Amino acid sequence: MKDNRNNQSTNSGGILYIVGTPIGNLEDITLRALRILKEVDCIAAEDTRTARKLLGRYEIKTPTISYYDAAERQKSRRLVARLNSGESIALISEAGMPGISDPGYRIVAEAISAGIPVVPIPGPSASLAALVVSGLATDRFIFEGFLPRTLSALKKKFFLLRDEERTIIFYESPRRLLVTLGAVRDVLGERNVVVARELTKIFEEVIRGTAGEVIDQLSGREIKGEIVLLMEGRQEKPSWDHISVAEQIESVINDLGITRMEAIKLVASLRGVSKSEIYREYHQE
Ligand code: SAM
Repeated sequence: MKDNRNNQSTNSGGILYIVGTPIGNLEDITLRALRILKEVDCIAAEDTRTARKLLGRYEIKTPTISYYDAAERQKSRRLVARLNSGESIALISEAGMPGISDPGYRIVAEAISAGIPVVPIPGPSASLAALVVSGLATDRFIFEGFLPRTLSALKKKFFLLRDEERTIIFYESPRRLLVTLGAVRDVLGERNVVVARELTKIFEEVIRGTAGEVIDQLSGREIKGEIVLLMEGRQEKPSWDHISVAEQIESVINDLGITRMEAIKLVASLRGVSKSEIYREYHQE
């Protein structure tokens, strides 16, 4: 195929393209992505059925093979062998950017180890689409991917993130959204959150407010579709003047149901000091 790389080293093998595809609206694909999908020898797709819809719409006849989570290791090896033999391959996921809460990382790492050029063909990602319409700060943000499923793990997660000052982006399922928002409210109080649902699709919706306000807006509704949850970072600087080390240890044990040693470790990381310092203070108080 035509090589459109700019500054890649010369190699006798093929090129691995990491291609962004739409997160809903099929028009959200770049001209370059369409050209690469037409020109490569093969498209490795996380979901070949979704891929067929996209490729059909743009009359792309390139052969596809499946590349999904459970078979990533084995498939990566085979794809790298094909790349080594000179074929070029485009990796696409079910939606958005491959590798972002989707398979991709392994084949990229293996291709790099094998000296194969890896070229990004940027496209949409639900995380960034949600961030830029959220109204929350976009200058600094973190992506946390999917949230844990149990309530205790959720609460622990939010507790650990409570001093994070950057905007935080999560992927969440519609079935768990209300429980998750309840956990935000319980652990962080009335923190501002944004629910971005069905972006680029017919029922696109963005709901903004404190965790409690968003819960009120969503209660009694059947929540469907795909969701990005964003949380405002901590606005005020943390201060531990109001609470002694012992009180804080007891409080995290009660709130999170963890052991004393785990609590000591957690409080040490929250305060940015060593475990032994917290241990000493705890036993002196
Ligand atoms: N690789 C994708 C990307 O770059 O955004 C993410 C794949 S991940 C398996 C799927 C999750 O992304 C969904 O559960 C949802 O949280 C989020 N998502 C994907 N499409 C979305 C959309 N159109 N609107 C809102 N969230 C979406």
